[in-house]
Amino acid sequence: MPSDRESLPLQPLIIPRDEHPVSRRDINPNALKVLYKLHNAGYEAYLVGGAIRDLLLDMHPKDFDIACDATPEQVKHLFRNCRLIGRRFRLAHVVFGRDIIEVATFRSGSDDGSGERTVGSEGRLTRDNIYGRVDEDAIRRDFTANALYYSIADFSIRDYVDGFEDVRNKVLRLIGDPETRYREDPVRMLRAIRLAAKLGFTIETETARPIREMASLLQNVSPARLYEETKKMFLSGYGVAAFEGLEQFGLLEWLFPGTAKALAKNRSGVLRNLVVAGLRNTDDRVARGDSVAPYFLFAVMLWPEFCLEFNRLLKGGMQGPEAQRRACDRVIIKQLERIAIPRRDTLPMQEVWLMQERLQTRQRRRVSRLLSHPRFRAAYDFLQLRAGAAPGHQDDLDFWTAAQTMPADDLDQLLANANARAKRQAT
Ligand code: ATP
Ligand code: MG
Repeated sequence: MPSDRESLPLQPLIIPRDEHPVSRRDINPNALKVLYKLHNAGYEAYLVGGAIRDLLLDMHPKDFDIACDATPEQVKHLFRNCRLIGRRFRLAHVVFGRDIIEVATFRSGSDDGSGERTVGSEGRLTRDNIYGRVDEDAIRRDFTANALYYSIADFSIRDYVDGFEDVRNKVLRLIGDPETRYREDPVRMLRAIRLAAKLGFTIETETARPIREMASLLQNVSPARLYEETKKMFLSGYGVAAFEGLEQFGLLEWLFPGTAKALAKNRSGVLRNLVVAGLRNTDDRVARGDSVAPYFLFAVMLWPEFCLEFNRLLKGGMQGPEAQRRACDRVIIKQLERIAIPRRDTLPMQEVWLMQERLQTRQRRRVSRLLSHPRFRAAYDFLQLRAGAAPGHQDDLDFWTAAQTMPADDLDQLLANANARAKRQAT
């Protein structure tokens, strides 16, 4: 897109301080410092994006981003604790210990928000025509709710795209022509589902309509970026809602093709129950402030296909252990075409899967070995999901529930009982 510097600036709707609830008390003090310093140096500076949206909704923002008319070099000049990042589009990070405030220069034209600006058909973009005015910065953002600017000069909110009204009505609406915006950056389809899930917004009709038919464009997105988006989607506390949104809009089959197929084949719905239970578990953990591991999420999401593949290989006459390993490999290799799941996730994920069979053992030595396995707890949690979703795992679950808390002597007794019972049943 050529720079349209010559275009007339859009006039914003200005919502004065006494007509909106965003208070400086709720703004990260470091972000406030940065805003004031920019303002006092004569720059135009705003708090922008998700933070204003979340504050209007009485939610706690994850990060406080700033947009201003100072160039990254000018920002660096102003702050000793500042680093410049990004190659094509430079951003300033002002660092306060572990807290990092991102300061961007107003940009014009569209980009995908990934920090890697693509080159349009007009040829290479130079630094010069990337930067723009605040109104241009507003309309290159994705959703109206994400394009509100809180001014540190008078504490008003500047709204160029009727985002204030949309936030009030809990509506997620793309800025501009939806098809064009999805074609520019297909990840916006995922962001629509994710933000609607997170905020409890409805996706406005025109914004929702093209998603189903444009879903296949996700094929053109880099697997590395999809890994990041997938983590945000499922590890931020609203995974169940996001999953349902992905299914509803036909996006799941482009993100997790094997999973979508396996779920469609599984008439009983047991596998879907397990996925939803796993995501609900994760959501609950996030709500409690507990840690969540990406590998466990992928173990849940890819389990349906693993089960199908494993059974197929068994039916073909392959031995159990060999079939398990092959099924693991195939599922992972296929999934990596879409999502670049790193080995630090796929390795523990496989361990959790492969331990499921081993949890059927009642042999003393194997039981002890499993109990001290670093992945035991995760494998046990996974077994719990399986027991909740389908009959037939409750005995195993009860055994391991008891086994992991008891002293060695009691464990011996438990095993003796379990083995005697097994013998009686066999005769
Ligand atoms: P979250 O609460 O998950 O952080 P967010 O809206 O703040 O949601 P970020 O990924 O932090 O999302 O992005 C910050 C801002 O950058 C957004 O609010 C939006 O204005 C803009 N943005 C992000 N991604 C895109 C994109 N793909 N296209 C256009 N604008 C984007
Ligand atoms: Mg954000």
